[in-house]
Amino acid sequence: MFKKVLIANRGEIALRVIRACRELGIETVAVYSEADSESLHVRFADDDVCIGPPPGRLSYLLIPRIIAAAEITGADAIHPGYGFLAENPEFTEACVGSNITFIGPTAEQIRLMGDKAAARKLAIELDVPVVPGSPGAIDSADNALQIAREIGFPVIIKAAAGGGGKGMRVADDAEAFADSFQLARNEALAAFGNAEVYVEKYLAHPRHVEFQIMGDQHGSVMHLGERDCSVQRRHQKLIEEAPSPGLDDDLRRSMGDAAVRLASRINYVGAGTVEFLLEPDGKFYFMEMNTRIQVEHPVTEMATGFDLVKEQIRTASGDPLSFEFHGNQLRGHTIECRVNAEDPERNFQPCPGTITAYHPPGGPGVRVDTHIYQGCVIPPHYDSLIAKLIVHGLTREEALGRMSQALDSFIVEGVTTTIPFLRTVIDHPDFVAGSVDTKFLERNLALMAAAP
Ligand code: ADP
Repeated sequence: MFKKVLIANRGEIALRVIRACRELGIETVAVYSEADSESLHVRFADDDVCIGPPPGRLSYLLIPRIIAAAEITGADAIHPGYGFLAENPEFTEACVGSNITFIGPTAEQIRLMGDKAAARKLAIELDVPVVPGSPGAIDSADNALQIAREIGFPVIIKAAAGGGGKGMRVADDAEAFADSFQLARNEALAAFGNAEVYVEKYLAHPRHVEFQIMGDQHGSVMHLGERDCSVQRRHQKLIEEAPSPGLDDDLRRSMGDAAVRLASRINYVGAGTVEFLLEPDGKFYFMEMNTRIQVEHPVTEMATGFDLVKEQIRTASGDPLSFEFHGNQLRGHTIECRVNAEDPERNFQPCPGTITAYHPPGGPGVRVDTHIYQGCVIPPHYDSLIAKLIVHGLTREEALGRMSQALDSFIVEGVTTTIPFLRTVIDHPDFVAGSVDTKFLERNLALMAAAP
């Protein structure tokens, strides 16, 4: 087992990894930017190193600084969290080159799955259905338009290197296509340094359903059930739940099998997620595989009782998976809300600032993953997630009631948050009925942004 793990991240996920290390008896190293010197992850780690000024590209994204920090402090492994360098194959290679274990998949696996067009090809080879679209990346607008006509409008143009909803454009008809194609390419180049895009049919009413994968170095790959992440704004997840109200046992089995087929094919080790779109007719389509721990991993932890971060660390050190997922059965019902420091009334504009009062909800089946505390400053340089509120109940009804009361008693003052907005969404008849798709928020946003 590792002696000392450096966490190449900040915020709630850095704290989450520190907790897992503590339980495993492993020392920790925090890295931080000048904006984060008062952060809890710095306070709770055994060792810490300042790696630069606030902007991510000058600190959390600087590979040589992070490797140097690991070397100086004698860390023998690095956990990347999510975002920043978590899916950067060069970072993985730099770790390996410095004799430091990267807690995650190999650079090759990250490269393969990070190229969405290549991942689609692999899925097709394995008989995993994909959304109808171009066979690979296309660079000529004329060819792309030809393909769009063949598959039928509306279509979605996606960055091959995409993530976080960036570099995606929907084109409703041939007229709008040329502009959307160029915009998606520009956005992809700016965000990922790679202008490659491909075209897919834009599905009308899909749910986003993803499967949690865990694998070890001894050839074992399994899934731990699904998460439904259909409540999204601009293709970004806001609420996740498990089990998905849209799955029955047969569908769960075939989607789970498809996910495991893909992950097994590349001998996946550690935590990963295979994402699908599911249409109301029960047809599902592979979208992409994320090769890291996800923001929404606590949903699966509450629904299975397994600690996914500890398991990531164990499997990276060569241990076999410590559990089996029997009978595809998730326990009870789990819901997670992402709480952001954003103003829904101002188009979800980020609201950095100082937290003047903080009181988290509690009680049975309530979990809060957060790095905020009274007096802490939310810097403007990073994403606006300030807490994840996860509730578990014996039934979906109980989980809904628990989420409502937990949101009601969640006190965060000093910055505007999405708590009242989330409360309105949770109460919406469509969400209560479990019948939402990925366009649910878009259809209802005006109503909900005006929440008191
Ligand atoms: P990213 O990696 O940027 O998060 P994804 O490929 O995971 O992008 O897609 C994010 C979201 O975009 C999906 O959850 C879904 O809401 C929407 N989306 C992606 N592809 C399609 C499609 N073909 N049809 C309809 N919606 C789509």
